[in-house]
Amino acid sequence: MRHVDYLIIGYGIAGATLAAELRGRNRTVLVLDTPQPDSASRVAAGLMNPVAGKRFALAWRADELLTAATQFYRAQEQRLGRPFFRALPIAKFFNSVQEQNALLARSADRPWQDFIDDDTAGELPPLPGVRPEFGGLLVRRGGFVLVEELLTALTAEGLAAGWLQHETFDWTALVAEPAGGGFRYADRVQARHVISCEGAATIQNPYFSWLPLTPNQGEVLSVGCAGLPTDTVLNKGAYVVPLGENRLRVGATYRWPPFAAGITAEARTELSQRLAELTDQPFRVLDQRAGVRPAVRDRKPLLGTHPERPGLHVFNGMGSKGVMFAPRLAQVMADWLENDVEPWPEVNIRRYLSLYAAGPAAK
Ligand SMILES: Cc1cc2nc3c(=O)[nH]c(=O)nc-3n(C[C@H](O)[C@H](O)[C@H](O)COP(=O)(O)OP(=O)(O)OC[C@H]3O[C@@H](n4cnc5c(N)ncnc54)[C@H](O)[C@@H]3O)c2cc1C
Repeated sequence: MRHVDYLIIGYGIAGATLAAELRGRNRTVLVLDTPQPDSASRVAAGLMNPVAGKRFALAWRADELLTAATQFYRAQEQRLGRPFFRALPIAKFFNSVQEQNALLARSADRPWQDFIDDDTAGELPPLPGVRPEFGGLLVRRGGFVLVEELLTALTAEGLAAGWLQHETFDWTALVAEPAGGGFRYADRVQARHVISCEGAATIQNPYFSWLPLTPNQGEVLSVGCAGLPTDTVLNKGAYVVPLGENRLRVGATYRWPPFAAGITAEARTELSQRLAELTDQPFRVLDQRAGVRPAVRDRKPLLGTHPERPGLHVFNGMGSKGVMFAPRLAQVMADWLENDVEPWPEVNIRRYLSLYAAGPAAK
């Protein structure tokens, strides 16, 4: 029997950041993960953007989340000796004169100022291959993470050291030991705590399916295109991320259920059209991928402990911002698990306790 402090189920960006945080606090961890090439984390464009969305609002807790995320990804780079995070300005292009006026007026306010490049407000520097009809803004302190490369490197490390195994966890084989003695799994593992980091698959989890998690399908393209900026992310309807060697990542689409699994012709057309609106440079689609985001009704993650099963926890609901959210929230989750510091009310699953009491139909 193997004894660990924490058994973590799932190794997307949620499981990876939490495992790193708990291991960093000298806890023993075993991660079980089904290798899934098209998990949300592996498909993600990897963007961290402090000012985003249709209303171009400052992201929730932008400063705190970005600071922790940048520290986490830089620390992994140092440890593993490879680059994973690229800090880049994000050029936000206005769609109309009205939008230009509204956003420029708002960008003069604090707390936005830390995130907007004052020198370029309204007058973007020349960007090769791009003709911004209504001007734009340069957003600072963002960038993108090579999430798939990072997870591949961390997984290899975990497999070699034995704290990660490729295996699908069967929740029906989990047995609670008497008198709060933790859990036994398939007569092989004994764990003080079990944490679900299963992403959108949590809708099938027998203990946490009452949470208001909805799968949201997204697609991204890899595109070959010469002549666009190599040191700026472009944003007009779609995000265009420069990967180097004349390759771009263009994303993303959003589709609510019902949706078919896998890539679609509609998404390819939609993203190609958005790129064509941004540039007159010729491009070629090299690859297309689809993944499923774990989205939550109020767009805030889900952290906490099962209402009736102490020792059984969830760390999930990263929605469309897992790359930026997960590192700081892993600290918040670890503070809860280790030091009884309640997770922030906005992310604490207690806010949905009425759904648990009402049963699955209330979701
Ligand atoms: C197209 C697209 C583009 C995106 N772009 C961005 C972006 O630019 N920036 C950003 O911040 N976010 C982006 N996101 C969102 C981001 O990907 C998610 O917020 C994040 O990846 C969720 O991570 P996760 O670890 O919770 O889930 P996942 O990445 O889905 O990982 C869950 C893991 O758990 C495993 N698992 C599930 N059940 C079990 C089980 N029973 N046993 C063992 N293993 C199990 C799965 O196989 C998987 O490996 C994007 C998402 C998509 C789909």
